[in-house]
Amino acid sequence: MRVSLYDYEKRDVERATFIIEDTSPEFVNTIRRALYTLVPTLRIEEVIIYENDTPMYDEMLAHRLGLIPLKVDDIDQFELPDLCDCGGKGCEKCQVRAELEVEGPKKVYAKDLEFDHPDVEPAFPDMLITEVGEEQRLRLEAIAVPGLGLEHAKWKPVSAVGYKGLPELEIDEEKLKEKKITYECPQGIIKVKDGEIVHIDEDRLPECRMYKEYERATDGAIKLKLRDDAFVFNVETDGSMPLEEVLMRAFDALEHKLKSLRENLEEEVGE
Ligand SMILES: [Zn+2]
Repeated sequence: MRVSLYDYEKRDVERATFIIEDTSPEFVNTIRRALYTLVPTLRIEEVIIYENDTPMYDEMLAHRLGLIPLKVDDIDQFELPDLCDCGGKGCEKCQVRAELEVEGPKKVYAKDLEFDHPDVEPAFPDMLITEVGEEQRLRLEAIAVPGLGLEHAKWKPVSAVGYKGLPELEIDEEKLKEKKITYECPQGIIKVKDGEIVHIDEDRLPECRMYKEYERATDGAIKLKLRDDAFVFNVETDGSMPLEEVLMRAFDALEHKLKSLRENLEEEVGE
């Protein structure tokens, strides 16, 4: 299996495209699922509302708070509640508290949450939660806990992960000449004039979205095939941890699963 970085971009989140070759759809899907489900993050799980005069009802407010990506310096300093020494009752190893107290009129942002842990903060401080009007108050306590996307999608460290077969051109040159095809791909990937290929940009094929268009426009002389042994793999974080960390943690989690499967199996067969 070979992996190469095709595209990388960092704005408020990190986004990358990789080309993964010599593999199978099942294997890349396993990586996709591991990124969604096996990397722990910290999210608000419990909200105690003392005062809420805003038009937004309590449940909606709690739901919005739960979806705020939280950035943690080192997620390993926390323990998943189920595995914590406290037995999941809640302690400083498996919980972080935050307070929010706002008097209107004011817009309430993620940065208004005051966490009682120096290493925890919202990934996007200017994320709008709600608005508190004139003579209205909002006072609440939120409890964030580490968790996995396996349990609830809010714990995913990524917002979008997807893959498709690596596009590949299949050109029937004789047919091109015979039919004197003239065609220019709007993405600038291939240009044909009077049956002759005048330009072809193989490097940009991974981003080709024309699919059936080539075949239709060139009377079947150029076809775009999607390989099933090489893939274009996209991943984008939700800001809660760096992309490299998300990937490495997903791979470690997969490795750990396979290792424990192997150990179990060895015990069972007495070897
Ligand atoms: Zn605990």
